[in-house]
Amino acid sequence: MADTIYDIVVIGGGASGLMLAANLDIGEPGLRGIVLEGSQRPGSKLLMSGGGRCNITHGGSIKDFVDCYGAAGPALRRCLYKHSNLELMKWFEGLGVDLTEEEGRVFPASMKSKDILDVLIGEAARNMWQLGTDAKVDALTLSQVPDSDPVWEIRLKGRGSIYARNAVIATGGITYPETGSDGSMLEILRGLGIAVSDPRPALAPVYVKDYPYGSLSGISIPDVTVTAFGSDAACTCSGKAARMKGDILFTHEGFSGPAILNISGFAEPGEQIRISYGKELEELPKRMQRILKDRARGDSGDVRTKKLASLLDHDDFTVTGTDRRGMVTAGGVSLDEIDMSTMRIRKFSYENARAHGTGALYVIGEAIDAYGITGGYNLQLCWSTALTAADSLTALV
Ligand SMILES: Cc1cc2nc3c(=O)[nH]c(=O)nc-3n(C[C@H](O)[C@H](O)[C@H](O)COP(=O)(O)OP(=O)(O)OC[C@H]3O[C@@H](n4cnc5c(N)ncnc54)[C@H](O)[C@@H]3O)c2cc1C
Repeated sequence: MADTIYDIVVIGGGASGLMLAANLDIGEPGLRGIVLEGSQRPGSKLLMSGGGRCNITHGGSIKDFVDCYGAAGPALRRCLYKHSNLELMKWFEGLGVDLTEEEGRVFPASMKSKDILDVLIGEAARNMWQLGTDAKVDALTLSQVPDSDPVWEIRLKGRGSIYARNAVIATGGITYPETGSDGSMLEILRGLGIAVSDPRPALAPVYVKDYPYGSLSGISIPDVTVTAFGSDAACTCSGKAARMKGDILFTHEGFSGPAILNISGFAEPGEQIRISYGKELEELPKRMQRILKDRARGDSGDVRTKKLASLLDHDDFTVTGTDRRGMVTAGGVSLDEIDMSTMRIRKFSYENARAHGTGALYVIGEAIDAYGITGGYNLQLCWSTALTAADSLTALV
């Protein structure tokens, strides 16, 4: 790899980096491109997504997606519309991957995320991309090479440097660092003067004080309303609170399940979280009925019916924290830094770059400061941003 000047280097061999390579044919124009994956195996997080089944996107109209990314939704609208869920499903089906839908969530019919990863790697190879594993990037700088415009110097840990006319950051977030996504690239980008919002776990189980349901671990309750009362106006639903409806799951140590994961970004330590089951006592699992009754007993040992009714309507807890293993990362490269119609970092945009004699720099996938709720929206963000960057690179090369 050393001493070669590549036309395009993609840093990160996860969902977004591989999707870009799978959709950009560099063989025909005779370009040199490589995907650099820091770990020994590309796509480790993709393999674990959806519990190994890979919920690739959500069904329905792409117009409904925008609201699922919170404050980042409007900025993402353009690339979501340009490369929608329907286009994605057709693409996979065209490559022989049958899909199936469960309550709006779209999966490969095989229920194997490996089938999705195999297609991405196969198409990237067909498009003539090299894939370098064990290629951890630990520095990125603009470099002057003899007889060439300045290019990106990409230093590989323990393996020297390679050079690229254009670079794409597809290094994901900070959660599940054992997959290789450790946030190290975000620090390197900060060093280039790019604004990065502090990364933190999102879509995570929530822990509370005096959690009474550890013995119900594994049991889920459908259609529950969860309200998180925040200390500031970050919560959108009523100015002070965020509210979500969906399934909750009891774990040994705290609350999980879609409604909890989706609200976890608003669950602040020391603040209240309210669970409203929206059911009669008899509709809940027997073991849970016993716990609720015990919690509603007065000093005499009798079950107080008023207290029981209030627990069903608002089972309130004080948040102690959220799990550090969130499904995604909140924070990342600030959207203000990115031209969302191309996914280029504005200050390294090609037009600007030409004037200054430097290459373009792109950022896609979970590395940007945006995330969606559960249900396939986070992988769709990866696909749509990767395809938007691929369009731009096609025009550029
Ligand atoms: C348990 C779990 C389940 C999930 N389930 C779903 C689901 O069903 N549906 C859904 O939509 N979303 C799901 N998600 C979220 C989704 O998987 C991620 O948002 C998505 O995989 C992010 O893709 P990415 O390519 O941006 O980053 P990643 O997949 O994290 O890939 C980034 C890659 O870059 C590499 N890298 C990092 N730093 C460097 C470096 N310095 N040099 C070289 N390489 C580097 C990493 O090794 C990694 O392979 C899930 C996440 C988790 C953790």
